[in-house]
Amino acid sequence: MQKYLVANYHTHTPRCKHASGTEEEYVKAAVRAGIKVLGFADHVPCPPEDGFVSGIRMGMEEAADYVRDIRALQKKYEDQIQICVGFEAEYIPWYYEKQMALFEELGIDYMIMGQHFLGSEQERVYAGMPNRTEEFLIAYVDRVIEGMKTGSFLYLAHPDLVRYEGEETVYRREITRLCVALKDMAIPLEINLLGILEGRHYPRELFWEIAGEAGNEVIIGIDAHSPDQIGKMDYYRKGIALVEKYNLHLIDGMGMIHR
Ligand SMILES: [Zn+2]
Ligand SMILES: [Zn+2]
Repeated sequence: MQKYLVANYHTHTPRCKHASGTEEEYVKAAVRAGIKVLGFADHVPCPPEDGFVSGIRMGMEEAADYVRDIRALQKKYEDQIQICVGFEAEYIPWYYEKQMALFEELGIDYMIMGQHFLGSEQERVYAGMPNRTEEFLIAYVDRVIEGMKTGSFLYLAHPDLVRYEGEETVYRREITRLCVALKDMAIPLEINLLGILEGRHYPRELFWEIAGEAGNEVIIGIDAHSPDQIGKMDYYRKGIALVEKYNLHLIDGMGMIHR
């Protein structure tokens, strides 16, 4: 078998309303691809505020079923693959305590940070919107660093989601600040294969050039939103090409042991 990912911590489920396939189909695809550790990190539910209902994440009331279903698969497939269950979460200071309470209550294994929004989702400040404002980029970097200081997140998913299109000197300065801070905290950065697969604005080459200079640890994440996205060798190879081009320090996994 050709070399592929040993571990993938970025797998979604249909509960987020924008992914397809059953949880078990993701597991089977991972086993077929030779993956040893499969982490489900579906979009974290957020407590409803002002009647806002998210169209891109599970409801709070679904979280227990999500964990229960993944735990059942963990048991069923324990001889073939190690499964863990977590969330992909934004760091939102005013939600953080509630998020951690949920984390504790559900007994999940980990969280990765995916800072899709600068604040809460209902404020609709999407970090991936094209933007030329310096303050916007600074706010993203500040928020990520502040969140990572909590020590609650395993790694930073698609760190290059932030879509600042202003001065390159500003981008270099702020992304260097981000990379150096995360390196000091020993928090890896994720090369996101879904971004490659869907031709999104990330991975952004300049980001990875800067990460290469800063010497961050890098991990590859599939960000699977359908089972057939697992095991696609050509996209994996494009991720590896980035690693090689920018001399990135690739790690295989996080040494995750499930409960
Ligand atoms: Zn998603
Ligand atoms: Zn994401």
